Amino acid sequence: MLSLHTKIEDIPRIGSAYQKRLKKMGIHTIADLLYHFPSRYEDFSDVIEIAKAKKQLSQNVCVQGEIIEIESANTPRKFMNITQITIQDNSGEIKALWFNQPYLLKSLKEGQFICLAGKVALGKEGIYLSNPIHEFITEDVENNELTHTGRIIPIYPETRGITSRWLRYIIKPILTILENQIPESLPNDILKKYKFLPINEAIWQVHFPESFEYADAAKARFSFEELFLIQLSVLKEKARLQLKKAPAFPLNADLMKQFTDSLPFQLTDSQKVSAFQILKDLEKPVPMSRLLQGDVGSGKTVVATMAALNVAKHKYQTAFMGPTEILAKQHFKTISKLLENFDVSIGLLTSKNYRIAKQKDISDVSRKSILGDLENGQLDIIIGTHSLIQKGVEFKNLGLAIVDEQHRFGVEQRAKLFDFAKLTPHLLSMTATPIPRTLALTVYGDLDVSLISEMPKNRKKIKTIIVEPSQRKQAYEFIEKEVKQGRGVFVICPKIESKSSKIEARINETTTMSSNFIPQNYAPTNNFASLLQNDVKAVKEEYERLSKEIFPDLRITMLHGKMKPEEKERIMLDFQKGELDILVSTSVVEVGVDVPRATVMMIEGAERFGLAQLHQFRGRVGRSNLQSYCFLFTTSPDQLNRKRLKAMVELDSGFKLAEKDLEIRGPGSLYGSTQWGIPDFAMEGLFNIFLVEKTRSSAKELLEKDPELKDYPILKEKLKLLQKKIHFE
Ligand code: ADP
Ligand code: MG
Repeated sequence: MLSLHTKIEDIPRIGSAYQKRLKKMGIHTIADLLYHFPSRYEDFSDVIEIAKAKKQLSQNVCVQGEIIEIESANTPRKFMNITQITIQDNSGEIKALWFNQPYLLKSLKEGQFICLAGKVALGKEGIYLSNPIHEFITEDVENNELTHTGRIIPIYPETRGITSRWLRYIIKPILTILENQIPESLPNDILKKYKFLPINEAIWQVHFPESFEYADAAKARFSFEELFLIQLSVLKEKARLQLKKAPAFPLNADLMKQFTDSLPFQLTDSQKVSAFQILKDLEKPVPMSRLLQGDVGSGKTVVATMAALNVAKHKYQTAFMGPTEILAKQHFKTISKLLENFDVSIGLLTSKNYRIAKQKDISDVSRKSILGDLENGQLDIIIGTHSLIQKGVEFKNLGLAIVDEQHRFGVEQRAKLFDFAKLTPHLLSMTATPIPRTLALTVYGDLDVSLISEMPKNRKKIKTIIVEPSQRKQAYEFIEKEVKQGRGVFVICPKIESKSSKIEARINETTTMSSNFIPQNYAPTNNFASLLQNDVKAVKEEYERLSKEIFPDLRITMLHGKMKPEEKERIMLDFQKGELDILVSTSVVEVGVDVPRATVMMIEGAERFGLAQLHQFRGRVGRSNLQSYCFLFTTSPDQLNRKRLKAMVELDSGFKLAEKDLEIRGPGSLYGSTQWGIPDFAMEGLFNIFLVEKTRSSAKELLEKDPELKDYPILKEKLKLLQKKIHFE
């Protein structure tokens, strides 16, 4: 008996190789398989006569007929294999050609009836169908039940080794077996209110739609469903949190003034406002959940430090969590400097570094002693990475958790991780990624948002220049001049495309181009190792070229993700200190590293990066009062790419760039959904404010009626699954 819970191992048609591939895509059960939706459809529903099809050059057509001739040949050039057949119906005959699919030959037989769907092309020998999709049929051509042709067919976001054809072949019989047996997950009144298709019909129509209207209706239902679940999860968590108590920290205004007076600069107005909002939240005995948004370099650290200082003076502890060890060390350095006159003790806890700063003294200590100090309350502020939430790390009284640039660590995790505490700590999340309100609402739960909307005044606008191949020499001369003045230069290389990644890129293109329904995101995770390899190769080659041919006299080194953390760190330090001129790197420098003496960011193959990422790179320079430059090297004439690079030149705010990217490329490109662990399907919905509101109010209503979802066991089960996915993916 098949059911939604049936494991893919127990489906007769799926062999072990396919099981593996499916699992890589996160598909473990029939439910996962059925919820793996197409990214787009092709319309082959109109089966026409061959004679008519032959007149539709370059169009997609669908024809059926009897195979009257089969040939197979290898072309001497390019080692290409061609399988060719001729089919015939009452109106005439047409050839069909397949390239490099020799295995087709085994299944083709003269006299066999076949349905072909594909593009009409014109070759040397006349009109033919190029690489059509085929499906064998019976002679009774009017009455065939078609899966791959003769209908609107689903095209799935493909990964290597799992084709749309195969998915259709697997999914359709399952749908037939499970006909009308899939339990409805949405409450009845919601189905009625929004006139959604019931689950059994929707699941058929999303995979094998009768019409595009039906496909849209099915998509609408599933988008709602996914977002609705997310909303339920967020609201439930919020309700849980509201019952919790947090320690209250009255604002010590004198102390804050003393702190801001000690800074070598004036806070910007939006830093002041943000700090005030945070400090006000901390006064309340309910856990704060606040997101501090601010562009790279807008000065979030100082604001967070004010909160930590205020908490420390109430004898409570702050945990400050950064995304990487390098950044944790940098934060430790920055914060201990900022607080050196305020008598607080600050610890650094990474996998290798255990350090304590107390006023101006900084000393290395053992892990044990740091953990001891944390537990007995000697330490006021502890800085680290995920190391801070490992077993064995005990706080005396954690009052505030600050999380820098980790989208995955939000309200719920805080609540769970620090559940042991009698009082729930406050949470401050910080990010430079511009996140639309709807996304923030959904992903971070119901966070309050503070926004640092202006840059410190001493900054000069970074000059951004698109460099054409013919201007390369000039750019190099400029760089040499900068270096002679003691400045540092970053060179970022995109990965070299290997053959396989090119194919993937093409698959990605085809699946995302025509559809913004589901962003494609499997290839990168599956082939992460090979991608990394390509990254390293690109960097090595560029490093060789620059150090041997272009700048033989300059001090150049490379940095990539395969190096050990200590090695990377040593290089960054050398670069910071000015013992290196040029750092050739993969995208590892993307986040937060501060090298004020660096004034040039040079990006090779700039068109290959997203705007958000380019903006992050650019944020690595311009961190002092020196004039800085961002060179975007490109050889791509593609209009879209040009548009995006132009936007880089024109806009210097990450938020504006994000909007632009959204406009140019659609949501999937910028907000890769894996980053937040949201199902692909729901991502699209997040940009639909109406849908977000609809799902939110529906979720609220339902939870008011039935907070524990007692009457909705299926919904409850789905919710559990979703939460598991979001947390542990
Ligand atoms: P981000 O928001 O990207 O985390 P940081 O907190 O690292 O930015 O700040 C970037 C740099 O700007 C730091 O060197 C910091 O000392 C400096 N800075 C912060 N606020 C101001 C300000 N108001 N005026 C001048 N410099 C500032
Ligand atoms: Mg920062």
